[in-house]
Amino acid sequence: MYEDDFYDDEEDLEPFVCLDCGVNTALNDEYYMLTGEVWKEADPDLVGMLCINCVELRLGRQLWPEDFIKSPINYLHSRLSARVLARFCGIPDTEAEELLVILQNNKKEAPQIVEQLRIKNLKGPNKPKTRR
Ligand SMILES: [Zn+2]
Repeated sequence: MYEDDFYDDEEDLEPFVCLDCGVNTALNDEYYMLTGEVWKEADPDLVGMLCINCVELRLGRQLWPEDFIKSPINYLHSRLSARVLARFCGIPDTEAEELLVILQNNKKEAPQIVEQLRIKNLKGPNKPKTRR
């Protein structure tokens, strides 16, 4: 699915507001799904949304491919910000900007391209130190 008109109604947008900074995660394309474990650590009440910046502030670290579940939401690449894509694939933000363009020009292959990057970078040199 690569539709750009998911969110027409203002009321539909309310549940997507970031708990901490108030940015709308549907409008800035930072609607994504993390593993239950990571999400519970960031948002113990398990309600609401957090933008990438705020979830990382709460966790005290950058997100990493392992933090995301294999939900179709995480594969809606035309609806992901470069920042989400960078964390999802484990690549620097600057590379994610280029990747976004590649994915938008190769929509059929996009999920495979992303999955290969994820697998390659799971044990990559940029992996942040975690307590796990
Ligand atoms: Zn925020």
